[in-house]
Amino acid sequence: MNILAIGCHPDDLEIGCGGTLARYAKQGHTVIMCHIANGDMGHVEIMPEELNKIRTKEAEDAGKILGAKEVISLNVSDLYLNHYDDKIRQELTRVIRYTKPAFIISHSPDDYMQDHREAGAFAFDVSFGSSVTHYASSSEAYDGIVPIYYMDTLAGINFIPSLYVDISETIEIKLKALSCHESQIKWLKEHDHIDFLDFVKTCSKYRGLQSNCAFAEGFRQCLTWPRIRSTELPPFQSI
Ligand SMILES: [Zn+2]
Repeated sequence: MNILAIGCHPDDLEIGCGGTLARYAKQGHTVIMCHIANGDMGHVEIMPEELNKIRTKEAEDAGKILGAKEVISLNVSDLYLNHYDDKIRQELTRVIRYTKPAFIISHSPDDYMQDHREAGAFAFDVSFGSSVTHYASSSEAYDGIVPIYYMDTLAGINFIPSLYVDISETIEIKLKALSCHESQIKWLKEHDHIDFLDFVKTCSKYRGLQSNCAFAEGFRQCLTWPRIRSTELPPFQSI
């Protein structure tokens, strides 16, 4: 099975679904991570061009730790995401057609900043567009409209999961991958006094508390036709 995770910034997928992606990779599934924005405005002192290079490398290192086959950057500057931008839509369409995912993981429409919401909106729009034969016709249309699962919002605010994935066995991999994003973690600690690794571990522990395991990640399925698939009889399998 192929899984495509579409995040906004280079570290967002590690935060929201890194433990789940690591579980899939450990089981032999093909995980492809794609971030739309390059994270170039995520620092006050490091200038955007240099930060872009640093964050691209950090994301590649993190992806290797999670077991992803590939980390793709669409290299869009922070704060320039607009899900009506057809150039970005077509690039993301090519990523979906190349990946042929069984499902997509992306940002919730309720996430905390506009770029995250735009990334989720891109995933929603392009999951449909990639199946349309005459759209972005330089690549062959993907047969089917891909189901989407929204990952947790930052700090879990305004997000009630309908699915919980037990990541107790991959929490350390998730945190190790997240620690690759040193440009963010160091800055957050020194400038904002936020221990971001502890922040993310606490959120995973809280989701674990809610779902009777040590650590978990929460998801909600995007319930729009025709992205819904029927399941076996209960108890339903987690993704
Ligand atoms: Zn982000």
